[in-house]
Amino acid sequence: MSACAANPYRDRVPCSLYLHLAFCRHRCRYCSFLSRVMDPAERHAYVTALCSEIRALERLVPAVLPLVTLYFGGGTPSLMTADEAAQIIATVEEVFGLDPGAEITLEVNPGDTAAEKIRDFARVGVTRLSVGLQAAQDRHLAYAGRDHTVADYHRVMEAAGRAGFASLSSDILYGLPQQTPEEVAATVELALAAGSTHLSFYSLTIDPGTAFERLERAGRLAALPDEDTEREMYAVCLDLARAAGLRRYELSNAALPGHEGRHNLVYWRGEPYWAAGAGASSYLGGVRRRTISGIRHWMEHWLSPGADWTTELWEEEEAVDLADAMREFFWLGLRLAEGVGRERFRRLFGQPLPVALERSAAGLVAEGLLESAGTDGWRLTRPALDIANVVFRRFLLTEFDIH
Ligand code: SF4
Repeated sequence: MSACAANPYRDRVPCSLYLHLAFCRHRCRYCSFLSRVMDPAERHAYVTALCSEIRALERLVPAVLPLVTLYFGGGTPSLMTADEAAQIIATVEEVFGLDPGAEITLEVNPGDTAAEKIRDFARVGVTRLSVGLQAAQDRHLAYAGRDHTVADYHRVMEAAGRAGFASLSSDILYGLPQQTPEEVAATVELALAAGSTHLSFYSLTIDPGTAFERLERAGRLAALPDEDTEREMYAVCLDLARAAGLRRYELSNAALPGHEGRHNLVYWRGEPYWAAGAGASSYLGGVRRRTISGIRHWMEHWLSPGADWTTELWEEEEAVDLADAMREFFWLGLRLAEGVGRERFRRLFGQPLPVALERSAAGLVAEGLLESAGTDGWRLTRPALDIANVVFRRFLLTEFDIH
């Protein structure tokens, strides 16, 4: 057994690192992710700052690593040059070590990524691409403010195939203004035909501060699909993915066997992880921390000579108490098709499942929202997939004492 798997709750050593690349070429109209438009010089400075932050993590890193997953998220990581990606990977390797079989994922925006760059990302060690298709209709892409076309997506997927990427994920956004279930079906079919081994499908939310929210407030946003239509779209994604042999392993993710996103599984299984980059969240030793989201401030700090951690770099810091971690075990773990189990709970927390949580699970089984998974656990039933939040809330509200 690896050192990663052998550590009990709180003392477990994270073997995953999330890196936030907070730059984009422009802002999409629905997006509330932390990022800013940057020119190449500023992007390069961001990469330098990120390497400085990664180096500062060194004194926290025990000798038992290497990392088994590394994730370049954003923002638009594909705006980096391959040399910049190589610089970051080399720094990570130096500080943490990287397992020879490590999964290294990079998010790609098809609008700004030339075929040669895809090949070079493979050359510098990236093993998996997550490509933002979103929709297979150029008019939806344009209305959402995406700066790519369906032809750009094809170009990137073909280049990825030629570069030898065995794991290719495509992101699909449903619930867009005036989108129909047939258009969502066409999007899923296109992503599958292009060689996706993994699909992530997310429903559009109108988040505060976005252009879509301003349009909605002004009554000028094109009509959104109603709730029933959105459910139908979700069912379309699941059905088409299943018909192509992709198994739904999480509420919004399906993959061919062996192509599940190992990095995101860490989050859903309640495992710890490192993080670096402006606004990035880590989970270390039972403490969740989020770095300041002031991108300029973050860059200035890490670009100054001898920069190190200071408490003012934490925008949020929360010690997750044990009872909350146990509740979280349910509401995160139930996102997964594998569900949650008593034995895994015992391994994770070193104690049996509290009676109150056992009762909550039994109540949800009686209501047809949970079913048995394996010999000792539970998973969501098909009807519960559409109302998963109702189930999660039940566990969040379950009260019990830890002795
Ligand atoms: S959706 Fe992606 S590319 Fe668009 S603004 Fe947000 S982070 Fe940038």
